[in-house]
Amino acid sequence: MYSNKILGHKNVLNRLKALLLSKRIPPSMIFNGRQGVGKFIVAKEFAKSINCSHEKPQEDNLSLDLFQNQNETEKKSDSNEVKPCDNCQSCKQIEVGAHPDVRIIDSSFQGFLLDEDIKKQKKLKIDTVREFSKYAYKRPLLSEHKVFIVNDADTLTTEAQNAMLKLLEEPPKNTFFILISSQKNTFLPTVLSRCHIMEFGPLSNETVEEILARNNISLDEAALLSKFSGGAVKTALDMKTIMEKLQKLDTSSTLYPFKISSMLPKESYLAREEARLILNILLTKTHQKWITINDSNQKTDLKNLIKETLKLKTFLNQNVMPTPIIELAASECLKHGITLGFMKKYHE
Ligand SMILES: [Zn+2]
Repeated sequence: MYSNKILGHKNVLNRLKALLLSKRIPPSMIFNGRQGVGKFIVAKEFAKSINCSHEKPQEDNLSLDLFQNQNETEKKSDSNEVKPCDNCQSCKQIEVGAHPDVRIIDSSFQGFLLDEDIKKQKKLKIDTVREFSKYAYKRPLLSEHKVFIVNDADTLTTEAQNAMLKLLEEPPKNTFFILISSQKNTFLPTVLSRCHIMEFGPLSNETVEEILARNNISLDEAALLSKFSGGAVKTALDMKTIMEKLQKLDTSSTLYPFKISSMLPKESYLAREEARLILNILLTKTHQKWITINDSNQKTDLKNLIKETLKLKTFLNQNVMPTPIIELAASECLKHGITLGFMKKYHE
């Protein structure tokens, strides 16, 4: 779904590039920031740059082309720029997740290891750490460096984190660990203190819009979804899925709000997550209407609607069942002509 081009995160990318050029890459790093802003893609591109075997034309051959948001003139003037080639065996294997020295540790890795359903791997366990530790102490097979990217590393259990301490403190030679996290406060202080932390902020709406457009989402949809995204591409894509699902519903039916709630996922944590996104869509749409309308009475009504929806969102955070919250919010918004689909607005 995602394009490999990295957009945004200029400060982080500058720091990573400086580390590469100085050849002083910290062995253990945490990439922290909200979900869906591109931390994993940056980690993968970083791993490519570390191991790219393409012969570099310049003497300083460690570099990283992560400056997609610079203009062309700036890019050309950057004499140290040598991007991961994306063509050598190393780059190609990293791209498809098949490089023997660049391991992605995540729920899939654990599910495969434990012979369990991937969807049930909510936490990364000590067995998983023990397994990849074995690889960490072996010699690299293809490239000079080994890179372990631990996705959702904030789900590592306390036991698993403790099992990683020695690796993080005294990593085997030419081995790097990148822990991807959206809640670094779940790490033990002993883990945090051993890692170099890179903070990823939210992307701008414009950047999210551009990433969506590059991934074959129409310009109209990309523009609207980016407003809901809170700076995260994942949120925008989740919103898209929900809106496509819900826009098929007949808004003239008296059952409309109940149909929405009946379509929430069965697992309660997923239902709550989706309900949160639905309320965000309703809030953003109400806000958009509020700022474009001139009639003062209607403006007051919409302002009150925003207040009420915000109140419902608070209930959701207090573990009230999502079903009645969504039904109430959807029926109140419908009274003001605000629905959950997004095609109609642009294509009617
Ligand atoms: Zn390469």
